[in-house]
Amino acid sequence: MPACPYCGSSELEVQKSWRFRFYNVTRYRCRRCGGIFNHYANTSGKGKPEFYIRVRRR
Ligand SMILES: [Zn+2]
Repeated sequence: MPACPYCGSSELEVQKSWRFRFYNVTRYRCRRCGGIFNHYANTSGKGKPEFYIRVRRR
Protein backbone atom coordinates (compact mmCIF):
# COMPACT_ATOMS: atom_id res chain seq x y z
CA MET A 1 0.00 0.00 0.00
CA PRO A 2 1.50 3.36 -0.98
CA ALA A 3 1.54 6.43 1.25
CA CYS A 4 0.09 9.83 0.41
CA PRO A 5 2.78 11.96 -1.31
CA TYR A 6 1.29 15.13 0.25
CA CYS A 7 1.00 14.22 3.93
CA GLY A 8 2.47 10.68 4.27
CA SER A 9 -0.78 9.10 5.48
CA SER A 10 -1.61 5.51 4.50
CA GLU A 11 -5.36 6.04 4.99
CA LEU A 12 -6.13 5.93 1.30
CA GLU A 13 -9.24 5.22 -0.68
CA VAL A 14 -9.03 3.62 -4.13
CA GLN A 15 -11.04 5.55 -6.70
CA LYS A 16 -10.27 3.53 -9.82
CA SER A 17 -7.56 1.55 -11.55
CA TRP A 18 -6.57 0.95 -15.16
CA ARG A 19 -3.69 -0.14 -17.40
CA PHE A 20 -1.33 2.36 -19.00
CA ARG A 21 1.37 0.84 -21.28
CA PHE A 22 3.20 -1.58 -18.96
CA TYR A 23 1.93 -0.01 -15.75
CA ASN A 24 -0.99 -0.81 -13.51
CA VAL A 25 -2.33 2.58 -12.46
CA THR A 26 -4.37 3.12 -9.33
CA ARG A 27 -5.95 6.44 -8.42
CA TYR A 28 -6.01 7.06 -4.69
CA ARG A 29 -7.65 9.71 -2.58
CA CYS A 30 -6.17 10.46 0.82
CA ARG A 31 -8.69 10.38 3.65
CA ARG A 32 -6.56 12.65 5.79
CA CYS A 33 -5.75 15.59 3.48
CA GLY A 34 -8.06 14.95 0.50
CA GLY A 35 -5.16 14.91 -1.98
CA ILE A 36 -5.50 12.79 -5.10
CA PHE A 37 -2.65 10.95 -6.81
CA ASN A 38 -1.98 8.14 -9.25
CA HIS A 39 0.27 5.26 -8.32
CA TYR A 40 2.01 3.55 -11.27
CA ALA A 41 3.20 0.00 -10.59
CA ASN A 42 5.22 -1.73 -13.27
CA THR A 43 5.02 -5.48 -13.49
CA SER A 44 6.98 -5.94 -16.74
CA GLY A 45 10.49 -5.04 -15.50
CA LYS A 46 10.91 -2.28 -18.14
CA GLY A 47 11.26 1.32 -16.99
CA LYS A 48 10.73 2.41 -13.41
CA PRO A 49 9.34 -0.20 -10.99
CA GLU A 50 6.85 2.29 -9.54
CA PHE A 51 6.22 6.01 -9.19
CA TYR A 52 3.59 8.54 -8.18
CA ILE A 53 1.93 11.32 -10.13
CA ARG A 54 0.35 14.06 -8.05
CA VAL A 55 -3.05 14.93 -9.51
CA ARG A 56 -4.60 17.46 -7.20
CA ARG A 57 -3.93 18.84 -3.79
CA ARG A 58 -6.83 20.23 -1.86
ZN1 LIG B 1 -2.69 13.03 2.42
